[in-house]
Amino acid sequence: MVENLTVKPSLSGPEMIEAFGKELELDKELKSFTTFKTGGPAKYFLTVKSAEEVSESIKTAHQLQIPLFIVGGGSNLLVSDYGFEGIMIKVDVSGLELVGNNLIFSGAGEELMALINFSADNSLTGLEFASGIFGLVGGAIYGNAGAYGGEIADIIKEITLVDMDGNVKKVDANYCEFGYRDSLLKRSNEVVIDALFEFSAGEKTVIRSKIDEIIAIRAKKHPVEGKCAGSFFKNIPDPKEKYGKLPAGRLLEEAGCKGLKVGGAEVFEKHANIIVNRGKATSSDIRKLADIMKERVSEKFGILLEEEVIQIGQF
Ligand SMILES: Cc1cc2nc3c(=O)[nH]c(=O)nc-3n(C[C@H](O)[C@H](O)[C@H](O)COP(=O)(O)OP(=O)(O)OC[C@H]3O[C@@H](n4cnc5c(N)ncnc54)[C@H](O)[C@@H]3O)c2cc1C
Repeated sequence: MVENLTVKPSLSGPEMIEAFGKELELDKELKSFTTFKTGGPAKYFLTVKSAEEVSESIKTAHQLQIPLFIVGGGSNLLVSDYGFEGIMIKVDVSGLELVGNNLIFSGAGEELMALINFSADNSLTGLEFASGIFGLVGGAIYGNAGAYGGEIADIIKEITLVDMDGNVKKVDANYCEFGYRDSLLKRSNEVVIDALFEFSAGEKTVIRSKIDEIIAIRAKKHPVEGKCAGSFFKNIPDPKEKYGKLPAGRLLEEAGCKGLKVGGAEVFEKHANIIVNRGKATSSDIRKLADIMKERVSEKFGILLEEEVIQIGQF
């Protein structure tokens, strides 16, 4: 999420550090942070580890009228080459815990894959479909991450959120109005702090082999060295299709997008809905390539693709 506020005449670095605490980083390079490995710096970057810290940082950003953007693992972001003129708040709340027989508590800052491995270690099934999805638990909840017909919303029981006034609240899954790669959080701007997930009892070896199988399938379809953000565009709802979605990748392939390049950005040869940074791409290259892909699909099929990747800053 991003909150666009008119920036007040800016405070000096030391004044900002006094306001947000000594953990505040100035002019933080985001190229190493995002999986696209592109983008300019964030003027301010703060890693927070609890609901209280999230709440305090939101209140301070509001008082100082600084635009704020919440981040997790940076695996679904296209950051402008000009960077972000505000504060990025990285939610790094940790904790993985078995609750009773089949519930798992996870902090929003845990890797999604760590949660999947933890469930397997405890012989709990329900999240194997998400194996190999990058990023953190908070980011996965925000965008209702999913694959192979499953979505993280399917197993959410309770979530702790902080709203834009800094209030902490607990809600159930219905509150979040989950949809395909969508949740209410995209509109309410509330921040995920932690969640309780409901699994089913399973057999460890079966769960492990499912995870391995999905990771192996992904390894064949995704760029091995990363430098992408997964699917760039959302699939199109279509009840006639498997999982109820017409894959955007199929339309892009049929529109002849494989092999298209702009600067260092390229449509991945094995999956037309993935843009890869071949090493020297800028975010602007990626955006221009995405526009060409969109145009080709629109011309051939009359369908306007919608971005799954979240764009930050000016393009
Ligand atoms: C190789 C590869 C494969 C991928 N495959 C898939 C796939 O199969 N399915 C899929 O769904 N995605 C996939 N993705 C995309 C991405 O991994 C997911 O969208 C992931 O859930 C994003 O999590 P993140 O922590 O990296 O979020 P970020 O990229 O950091 O942020 C994404 C959005 O979430 C918001 N956000 C992050 N943390 C919080 C929080 N704690 N509270 C509120 N909002 C928050 C941000 O504001 C931003 O708008 C893939 C990515 C890669 C690189």
